[in-house]
This record gives sequence, structure tokens and C-alpha cells, in this order.
Amino acid sequence: MSCLVLIEAHDSISEVSAETLTFARSLETQIDAVVVGSADVVLGQLGEYGVARVFQAGGEGFAAFAPAAWAAAVVAAVEAAGATIVIAGGSPRGNEVLAHVAARRDVLMAANVVTVEQSEPLQVSRQVYGGAALEVMELSDGLGVFSVAGHACAPAASDAPTTPQVHDVAVSPTSSDLAVRVARTEAGAPDESGNLKSAKVVVGAGRGAGSADGFGELMELTDLLGGSLGVSRVVTSLGWRPHHEQVGQTGSRISPDLYIPCGISGAIQHWAGCSSAKTILAINSDPDAPMVTRAHYAVIGDLHEIVPAINEELRRRASA
Ligand code: FAD
Repeated sequence: MSCLVLIEAHDSISEVSAETLTFARSLETQIDAVVVGSADVVLGQLGEYGVARVFQAGGEGFAAFAPAAWAAAVVAAVEAAGATIVIAGGSPRGNEVLAHVAARRDVLMAANVVTVEQSEPLQVSRQVYGGAALEVMELSDGLGVFSVAGHACAPAASDAPTTPQVHDVAVSPTSSDLAVRVARTEAGAPDESGNLKSAKVVVGAGRGAGSADGFGELMELTDLLGGSLGVSRVVTSLGWRPHHEQVGQTGSRISPDLYIPCGISGAIQHWAGCSSAKTILAINSDPDAPMVTRAHYAVIGDLHEIVPAINEELRRRASA
């Protein structure tokens, strides 16, 4: 019995794969990995995460990403490994490949799992409605297939590192496996989100800022706390701040130690991007705003009065 983890890697394993390998340890089974392409460059890292066996599928058919071809490789690796569970990071690629795997094996698939509730029968909790609710789902007997939600756990190397055994998986994608594939890649613009995704403190700003000129005190609070500014979609849609600062379902997902959303109502699409924050301090004039009712702490009032008062106190303490 083993859990097979689909690895996404370039020169090193991706953050979602590192999280997924860490999550796999909670299943208390042997951890194996499947890599499409050569595993050579990531073998050392996989050993650090306690992977026992690595199944690699190479060849011309895998030169470009093709979800059905990757699924063929994963299914072949499941059979070679005798795996009873196969998981991947909840990235677009991980979810797409696992959906194909589940369809090929005629079993259920759960996306964005945050916890395994029990192993027999396999039950998982997964995020639904952009993270606003959790659903408990029972997976199929025989093969449990699920993706792990981003930030479900922090990546951590194993206390028992391994030297993984490498096994080649012989699989040749068919022409229909390659019907949908990446035909061309282009370098995108450099990631402008800066350290928003990894910041320990994020100050959030929503429509309550009032206008494009209403961010001065919020920027000052961000600087005083050594954090990053994150904003709601209303703010980017109105052109008050650039899109790369947006937090939420269609922006960045953040998991700071402290999130201070100011004048943000807490719509589920925004919550989807900030619900992993360890502590939330909401500043809002509406005591019934969803962000206020979900926050750990809240200050009710006008942010244009509260934020300058906080800044003044922070400056006073810094100079004391
Ligand atoms: P509002 O909902 O208008 O809330 C403003 C808040 O400010 C209110 O709670 C009000 O009480 C408070 N306020 C007003 N004045 C003050 C003041 N002076 N002091 C203190 N508080 C004050 N949204 C995102 O943020 N991120 C996303 O990624 C995202 N993706 C989306 C994807 C889709 C498909 C859709 C349909 C929507 C998406 N949205 C997203 C939009 C989302 O539904 C909300 O419309 C948006 O988050 C609301 O932004 P807001 O909280 O700034 O504004």
C-alpha cells in the first residue's frame, strides 16, 4: 500500500508539490512519487521529503505538457507502484491531470482537500465555494484520488530522509492522449506581485479607502509594519491600484501571520485568497460585514480615523 504523489518540477520541485509531499506524510503510508520526464534533477529533494520510490515516465510523447498523456503516465505508475492513493497539488495542472486519472480508473476525485478525516473508507474535507465552506467527501474504494489545496500545510522536509529507488515506467501516449497539449510557451511578464504572497504582514485595502488618493495612511501602515499592500478587486477594477496587488480568487492567495483588511467587506471571492492568514484584524465601519464576523479581531469605525491613529502609535513606539 502506498501513496503516489504527482510531482510538478522544473529545476526543482514546485512549492505545491513540496506541500503535497508534506501532506502525504499525514496518511502514514509509504510515499512514492511519479515524475513525467527525467527525475534526476529532483531526486535529492524527493529524498529529503522521504520518498521511497520514484516512477519516471519519459520519451518523446512527454516533451510538452499534455494532460491526458500525463494521466496515462500516472495510471501506469499507480499500477507499477500498487498505489491505493494518488495525489497532486491543487494547481490547475494537478487538478486537470488527476481528473483524467479518475476518469480512466472510473473513480471519484476530490479537489482542494485540506484534511484526511479517516482512512477506511477514505474520507476527506475539501474547500468549496472558494474556500468559504468545507465539504466532507467519501472517495472510491480501490483508488483514492485527490488534490491538496494550496497552503493546506507548510512544506517541511522529513525527519527520515531517503535515497529513492528509481523505476522507469514504460508508457507511450496515444495520438488522442496528445490531442490537447501545449503547443508553444512564451515568457510572461516578471511576477510583479513582489513579496505579497510570502509577506508575513499584509495590509488590505478595499472600496472603503474612498478613492485612488485614499491610500496614503494605508501605505504608511504597510511601511511601518514592514509588510505588503493587498487590495480587493473593486480597488483594481476602479483603477485605484494595479492588479498585481489584488488578493482573492482572481488575485494572489496569501497566508501571512497577520492580515489587516481595511474597508474590505469580505466577499467570498476575496476570502478565497486570504482565509489562510493566521490572524485577521479587520477595520471596517460595518460591524456586520462578513470580514468583521470572520476576523479574529475587529475595530469598528472609519479607517481614515483608525489607521492614522495606529500609525501615530507605531511611530511613537518606534522612537521611544
Ligand atoms: P465592498 O464590497 O463595496 O465593501 C466595502 C467595505 O468597506 C464595506 O464592508 C464597508 O462597510 C467598508 N467601508 C466603507 N467605507 C469605510 C470607511 N471609511 N472605513 C472603514 N470601512 C469602510 N474580489 C476580490 O477582492 N478579489 C478577487 O480575487 C475577486 N474575484 C472575483 C471573481 C469573480 C468571478 C467575481 C464575480 C467577483 C470577484 N471579486 C473579487 C469581487 C467580490 O465579489 C467583491 O465585489 C469585492 O471583493 C468587494 O470589494 P470591497 O470589499 O473592497 O468592496
